[in-house]
Amino acid sequence: MGDSTEMPAEQSSPWTVMDVAEFMHEDTEEIICPWCGYEFQDSWEFEENGEHDCYECEKPFKFCRIIDVTYDTERIEP
Ligand SMILES: [Zn+2]
Repeated sequence: MGDSTEMPAEQSSPWTVMDVAEFMHEDTEEIICPWCGYEFQDSWEFEENGEHDCYECEKPFKFCRIIDVTYDTERIEP
C-alpha cells in the first residue's frame, strides 16, 4: 500500500469558488454567499457579524468576522 497522492502542505494559491463543493464557508478572506458562492469584495465594510442579503442571488445569510489575534516578540537591550 502506497500513498500515491502528494498533498502540498502549504499552498499559496488563492481559493476559487469552483473548488468548493458545498456552500458553507469558514476561514475565507471575504464574505462568501453560502447559497451561490458569490464572493463579496467589500467584506471589510460590513459589521463584525450580522445578516445580509447576497448581491447576486438575493438570499439572506448570516456572517461573522473571525479576528485572529497573534503576537510577535523580540528581544530588546535592557
Ligand atoms: Zn448568493
